[in-house]
Amino acid sequence: MDIEIIAVGGYEEVGRNMTAVRCGKEIVIFDMGLRLDQITIHEDAEIESMTAPDLIRIKAIPDDTMLNSIGGTVVAIVCSHGHLDHIGAIPKLAGRYNAPIISTPYTTELIRQEIAGDQKCGVNNKLLALRAGQRYTLSQNLVLEFVRTQHSIIDSVIPVLHTPHGAIVYALDFKFDRTPVIGEPPDFARLHQIGKEGVLALIVESTNIERRGRGPSERIARDLVRDTITSYEDDKNALVVSTFSSHIARIKTIAECAHEIGRKPVLLGRSMEKYAVTAEQMKLVSFPETTSVFGNRRIVDRTLRRMMKAGKEKFLPIVTGHQGEPGSILTRMATGDTPYQLTKGDKVIFSANVIPSPLNSGQRYLVEARLGLSGVRIFEDLHVSGHAYREDHYELIHLLAPQHIVPAHGNLKMTAAYSQFAGELGYVPHSTVHLVRNGERLKIT
Ligand SMILES: [Zn+2]
Repeated sequence: MDIEIIAVGGYEEVGRNMTAVRCGKEIVIFDMGLRLDQITIHEDAEIESMTAPDLIRIKAIPDDTMLNSIGGTVVAIVCSHGHLDHIGAIPKLAGRYNAPIISTPYTTELIRQEIAGDQKCGVNNKLLALRAGQRYTLSQNLVLEFVRTQHSIIDSVIPVLHTPHGAIVYALDFKFDRTPVIGEPPDFARLHQIGKEGVLALIVESTNIERRGRGPSERIARDLVRDTITSYEDDKNALVVSTFSSHIARIKTIAECAHEIGRKPVLLGRSMEKYAVTAEQMKLVSFPETTSVFGNRRIVDRTLRRMMKAGKEKFLPIVTGHQGEPGSILTRMATGDTPYQLTKGDKVIFSANVIPSPLNSGQRYLVEARLGLSGVRIFEDLHVSGHAYREDHYELIHLLAPQHIVPAHGNLKMTAAYSQFAGELGYVPHSTVHLVRNGERLKIT
């Protein structure tokens, strides 16, 4: 059986991840993601009402038309976790393939909502939930396994495709967090076992390869957030925190800190509502009982008005907008476009990094400048990354001892840095470590 790895998207950018693996006549697709900054650049882009060809043209979703020329049948679409750069293109692309979409229970629920929310969607693929630690037989030759990992969204896994020539490990995205805030640490024992059984190829994210050392645990972020929030027990001013709406562990931390200082946590924003309510309903997280969640814009504004009346010191709003996104709640707060007035001495906490792109930096600068004009105190970077650092990658390679490495999920600078790193570990360019671009095919057996 010949095996080929096909780089569809995410090999020249951060976002729109998609990789296909062909084993003989069978193809398994890993991820179908969106590239969000492309959507922001094309300001009039409304993803829900756009067609696949339009979105491919503006490079917002992977160009999967190349798969037409590859002989074989797609037997499964596998998603490693629920971030939009991994599942966001499903409503646009999955309908072309007569194959089930396989992901963990939380990811499956998010995919179900993505599909339901899309107007141009012709997707009725079967959705199949597979838990971390479980295996699923795809065909006579192929078995899929989900290995538990940690990342900045709950219920993330490293999918492993077992083939007659060895395992193909798809490590996008992961973090080797041994003291996570929600869930168990990654299943190191199983990864080691898979390494012993034989790994043909490792397809691996490269976003943080240039960061030295190990990625700090989410527990560190919890301490950073806790230190700041609980330092203001007697404070009568506003405390507003903005973080990633999909980062359930972080939101839990923030809500618990609010509760601890006697403030009611209030999650605001449509995406906050989506991720948090879904996680809570699935019993994957429990927030303090004083927590409330509002998504609809009209209700958000009504709630903000209510907080102003009752006293800002009684609440801790957790809001969207840490990247300064236009229309987000924090941006609207900063421009005075909500009933919630920020005044001198109020505090805004960013429990997020600025995603490094000129657009984000510019928008974030603007929000901070506007907050500054109102006399708001700003706290930033109360955050740790959800992606593996260089020494975590070293550990992964050590555990798996793969024959081939294919760096993915990064711009060319990142994938090239990963190749160089693998080179230092004895991997040989073009022979055992492969720098591939979108649209390229790589035969490994
Ligand atoms: Zn991710």
